[in-house]
Amino acid sequence: MTSLCQSSFNGALDRCYRISPCLANPARRSSLGLKVALVLLHLIYVGILFLFDNDLIDKIKEDPWYMALYFLLFVATLIQYFVTSGSSPGYVMDAMRALNEKNAVFAKASMSSKRSVSSKDGNLIITVDGSQSGITPVGGNVTSWMKLVLDMYPSGTSVRTLTCSYCNVEQPPRAKHCHDCDKCVLQFDHHCVWLGTCIGQGNHCRFWWYICGETALCIWTGILCVAYLKSNITKAWWKGAIMILLLVILSISLIFLLLLLLFHSYLILTNQTTYELVRRRRIPYLRGIPERVYPFSKGVCRNLYEFCCARSDIYKLERLPTAVELEEKSRPYTCLDFFTCRCC
Ligand SMILES: [Zn+2]
Ligand SMILES: [Zn+2]
Repeated sequence: MTSLCQSSFNGALDRCYRISPCLANPARRSSLGLKVALVLLHLIYVGILFLFDNDLIDKIKEDPWYMALYFLLFVATLIQYFVTSGSSPGYVMDAMRALNEKNAVFAKASMSSKRSVSSKDGNLIITVDGSQSGITPVGGNVTSWMKLVLDMYPSGTSVRTLTCSYCNVEQPPRAKHCHDCDKCVLQFDHHCVWLGTCIGQGNHCRFWWYICGETALCIWTGILCVAYLKSNITKAWWKGAIMILLLVILSISLIFLLLLLLFHSYLILTNQTTYELVRRRRIPYLRGIPERVYPFSKGVCRNLYEFCCARSDIYKLERLPTAVELEEKSRPYTCLDFFTCRCC
């Protein structure tokens, strides 16, 4: 009987995998399970609130804008979760492919007519921060990926030390191989299990907005829970007990989210990544740089501007700062620096 049940269960699973092949992958299954759990968690909170609190229904009639804004935040947070989860963190392989495609288009077009090249496409697919020679715009010099990456490191750096042994691709500064995604990621921050994707150059901004939305939703839901407890604590004790339990879980989540939000805001303002901060002493190009010096920071305002206005279709590569630039960054602050807005 047990073997019959087992075989019919396996048969149903096989049919399920044939209908949606992505479910055959255990990593994708767990990622999908987490997404379903997150949506359910949100629905349970809102469902219990509306099921227990009859005043909320009256509030929709009395003050429709208040509850409409709450639902808008609820939907926007879930959408932001799925958008971030499905976004690319900026893979090194994609940047290299984009550069090769651009070079191929440039080489093909330059053979026929130089004029048509510049008029066809004026966009840069890859920008190299602060570099004078490594940019490969259409109409400029064709540069190979290896040369582009090598130009971002001090002269004499061996290509072998920069090549990822898993992807066999040269890693620009700040890139790291993610073992969960099995790809090298530009400006690798961390691999988020909750989102099922890496957080890197391409989606760090979306990730910050998602945490921001989730924090706001947590605070608002907490306020609604407290309002219910204030007016209904003496009615049904079991309803109060469930609401207190939900409030405790919500408070723990809120503390975690607030800390995460503050931590990522600090990283953004100083142009760092979680990986660089945690593994600073292990990353070869960061070794020897004093703790309070942020090698990739361009000042609070510019860091913020570049973070918020970064286009996901443009791969931005940052070269390593020179010894002179590092010396300038490590110079102690003076009163004059305050007036000249050195940090901005
Ligand atoms: Zn790799
Ligand atoms: Zn990853």
